[in-house]
Amino acid sequence: MAALAQAVMAGDRRALARAITLVESRRSDHAAVASALLQAVMPATGGAVRVGISGAPGVGKSTFVEALGSRLVERDLTIAVLAIDPSSTRSGGSILGDKTRMGKLARAPQAFIRPTPAGRTQGGVARRTREALLLCEAAGFDVVVVETVGVGQSEVAVAAMVDCFVLLVAPGGGDDLQGIKRGVMELADVVVVTKADGDLAAPARLAAADYGHALGLLRPRSAAWKPRVLLCSAVTGAGVAEVWAAVEEQRQALVDAGEMAGLRAGQARNALWADVHDRLGSALRSDPAVAATAAGVERSVVAGELAPSAGADRILAAFRSGGWGGPRSEPR
Ligand code: GDP
Repeated sequence: MAALAQAVMAGDRRALARAITLVESRRSDHAAVASALLQAVMPATGGAVRVGISGAPGVGKSTFVEALGSRLVERDLTIAVLAIDPSSTRSGGSILGDKTRMGKLARAPQAFIRPTPAGRTQGGVARRTREALLLCEAAGFDVVVVETVGVGQSEVAVAAMVDCFVLLVAPGGGDDLQGIKRGVMELADVVVVTKADGDLAAPARLAAADYGHALGLLRPRSAAWKPRVLLCSAVTGAGVAEVWAAVEEQRQALVDAGEMAGLRAGQARNALWADVHDRLGSALRSDPAVAATAAGVERSVVAGELAPSAGADRILAAFRSGGWGGPRSEPR
């Protein structure tokens, strides 16, 4: 473990890949090693620009990340991309998929692309992705991008682990705009209308105006930064530099307002408690004493004979009687 931590901090890509596999592992004997590894690299974390990129399938995320990443690499920056793949619970297959989609970037020695399997629980995805992000940071990457498909709850989880959340939207405007949940718009620091080229250039401009209006109706998350809408074509490259400039500007605005440290501290605090809740939940679900009691209690509650709160008392009593909280290592 100590050797692996050293290798990660020395920027060894293969060690980084192994370390991420370790934190993604569900094997209980890996859990303790993963925790120790993360603890060992802690002093080397915190240095990257953390960017979340989200959007509906087909909106152009991979193409955009490739265009952005290639630009950053040309500027001598190193970039790690963690792509959350909600369609798979295993990483096999999706690795090749994403590498092909970001072919040029994947070949650049300054880049590291890694799909994160979505897994069974939202909490699990969030924790593993956050840990992978910290490992990339420890490995010295200047920029860590967390890419997620805009379906379900993954945007919320990603927004809670990055400094800047970039939402990509299609150039359709109108109907498309209504399809984007207000909650997701509220998370965005930068909204990018993609594919603003050729026939789509004019509708993209209209869409940008619509989104600008929609953003104007929302209360910004920080007094220091007013979210903005930009147009971009990953194919022609127009607007890509402007998106990165906005990310840097937002960062500077938060730093100048003294909000950056507080933002990250709040995120770390939330990650702590989310992890505690997550592990309590899985310990409860896998507890034999709970399993022995739960079905009967549930039947009584469903039949209207037992109040839900009284049923909860019984289940939690069984949980405690099972000796949970003892020295055995808990599932992560
Ligand atoms: P993702 O599913 O969000 O990752 O979307 P992709 O990056 O795979 O892109 C989906 C489709 O949109 C592909 O056929 C791309 O070639 C196309 N596309 C992506 N970016 C642009 C762009 O800037 N302009 C145009 N015209 N097409 C684009």
